Amino acid sequence: MKSKKIYVTRPSLPPLEEFLNYLEDIWETKWLTNNGKYHREFEEKLAEYLGVNFVSLFANGTLALITALQVLKITGEVITTPYSFVATTHSLFWNSIKPVFVDIEENSFNIDPEKIESAITPKTTAILPVHVYGYPCNIEKIQEIADIYGLKVIYDAAHAFGVKVKGHSIAEFGDLTVLSFHATKVFTTFEGGAIISHDEKIKKRIDFLKNFGFAGETKVVQPGINAKMNEFQAALGLLQLKYIEDNIKKRKKIANLYRKKLKGIRGIKYFEDKKDVKHNYSYFPILVEEDYSISRDELYERLKSNGFYVRRYFYPLISEFSPYKSLPTSDRDNLKNAYEISRKILCLPIYPELEEKEIERVVELIILYNKR
Ligand SMILES: *Cc1c(COP(=O)(O)O)cnc(C)c1O
Repeated sequence: MKSKKIYVTRPSLPPLEEFLNYLEDIWETKWLTNNGKYHREFEEKLAEYLGVNFVSLFANGTLALITALQVLKITGEVITTPYSFVATTHSLFWNSIKPVFVDIEENSFNIDPEKIESAITPKTTAILPVHVYGYPCNIEKIQEIADIYGLKVIYDAAHAFGVKVKGHSIAEFGDLTVLSFHATKVFTTFEGGAIISHDEKIKKRIDFLKNFGFAGETKVVQPGINAKMNEFQAALGLLQLKYIEDNIKKRKKIANLYRKKLKGIRGIKYFEDKKDVKHNYSYFPILVEEDYSISRDELYERLKSNGFYVRRYFYPLISEFSPYKSLPTSDRDNLKNAYEISRKILCLPIYPELEEKEIERVVELIILYNKR
């Protein structure tokens, strides 16, 4: 059976007619970018949805990360995780900051707060953790360490749109939180991103920096960049807000169905929802353990040949890529948990329009290849 290809994710888009209304208006007004009315409206509505005070929209998440580091004038060394998408560490590199990798927790995919302290040197200025798969980091412990050592905390929340912890938006924590609205993320504006800040003055400086550093027609406050979100992205964002809750509900249903069907399969481990967390079900990670009949990579290949384009997020680790592999903290012994998990991880397809029969089929195959 060679049917259609099922990817790990697929963007959800609003009805085209709804977007056409916005396009017609943009054509009429000829206001395409630079803080247009849709940009302003989306910023406001997004802050409301997320339950935060200050949102600054960006062209994409990577530029938002790079700018976040610039805004706080982060230099020297920054403690971060190797278990993420490369953009996390690239944002440090683009700021001439030395990444210091710290291992992840054995039972989560996030940076291990217990191992942060011993990685701090006189050059350390900040911590850049990632809420991987939208699973919240140990926010309290990280903040405690940051307070003791006078470090800034910037969260890469590219996976964590809409996630809440004990009723609070995950974007409330740390000095700054960065979001991505890339096509593969839970909430998309084609490409896009944002920085969440907690202080009006900081928000102002973020907005200067994403527009070449301009603070008025004749004043440049800092060498900035062009990282502005355009009106088309903002218009899509406004529409997407109408559908996001429904989409997350559909994702939750899929996650629960996977759990029901994967239950009891030898060598396959999956994860339950965490207490006090409103999840966004951005990914459905499983671990292919040693007692599964074939290797993770074999399973990956076989699922692919059946049309299921599952992904090994995150393999290889960022610390294994050539720009970073010779850093002292990239040593495999320093990153044992991350290394092990990266060899077992597989992300199964999850997106609102994924059909039940497709979920059933992928689980059937996982069972089929487990026969000795
Ligand atoms: C997607 C992603 C980014 C980059 O966001 P873009 O909008 O694609 O630039 C950064 N960090 C993580 C963890 C991501 O998954």
